[in-house]
Amino acid sequence: MQANTYSNNLLLDLHCHLDGSFSTNFIRQYTGDTRDDTQLKEVLSAPADCSSLTKYLGCFDLPIKAIQTSDSITNGVLDVLASAALDGIKYIELRFAPNCSLENGLSLTQVYEAAIEGTKLGLEKYGIHSNIILCAMRHHSPETNTKILDTMYDYVGHGICALDLAGDESMFPNESFEALFKKAKDMGIPFTIHSGECGRAQNVRLAMEYGATRIGHGIALIKDIQLMEDIKNKGIGLELCPVSNFQTKAWDEYSSYPLRTFLDKGLIATINTDNRTVSNTSIKTELSLAMEKLSIREEDIITLNKNSIEISFADDNLKNTLLNML
Ligand SMILES: [Zn+2]
Repeated sequence: MQANTYSNNLLLDLHCHLDGSFSTNFIRQYTGDTRDDTQLKEVLSAPADCSSLTKYLGCFDLPIKAIQTSDSITNGVLDVLASAALDGIKYIELRFAPNCSLENGLSLTQVYEAAIEGTKLGLEKYGIHSNIILCAMRHHSPETNTKILDTMYDYVGHGICALDLAGDESMFPNESFEALFKKAKDMGIPFTIHSGECGRAQNVRLAMEYGATRIGHGIALIKDIQLMEDIKNKGIGLELCPVSNFQTKAWDEYSSYPLRTFLDKGLIATINTDNRTVSNTSIKTELSLAMEKLSIREEDIITLNKNSIEISFADDNLKNTLLNML
């Protein structure tokens, strides 16, 4: 049998927010902030016992200020790709809200092009493959969110891979976004939706009904056995982010965390970082937590990698390249 170089690592990260994953050097360079690493990390990282998702989301204010020009967006992507490559990642999907990068007059398509340029440079410089997921935001107006769909089509398959919906799920549940995702589905644009992070299984059901091929987090699914079966039968992927879930109190008990049950039931569950800086995590940290506290075993690593490849928005060529690395 051929030696397996990567059998002990997770090679993909499918749920990683660009603006939650910048280095302190990048933040200083593009905001002019002069605080040292320790001081900046206090602003950029949520405490391990963060009191709520709403508070956690406050950590994105400074990073968003940093990505208001084409140059900073390109270099922001490159900054996160550099740390992901060091983390052993071979393919990553970076997501961010393009409507939050328009303060200095960029157009949406200029934002997309700058991000795509970063993915190309990342492959050249660090050998890491990547795609961009564009996030609609729950607190933005339907018109603002729809503009993403109106402008992204030509870029899908060329560096942009999908649409997402992010933001405060408890304050803005999925019901309000049916029209957005109906339009995405009609346009043939794939999407994932943050759903079931805040305890509401109904959001997962709605995401499924709207046509999501993946669910961001989805941990509330564990409360609904029939829905779990439906998600499995439809082959919908689950992007779990354990460190973040414990940090935001989305889940509070290691022994009952749904990852083990999802895998045992044959759901296509994956492990991801969510926010490398805000959650002070990496894929290696996530895997260590999973193996030490969440009943994940060494033999699960191959399944987790295969699950990630299967549900990734990468094209078939890239999927084959990644499969050949296992
Ligand atoms: Zn997320």
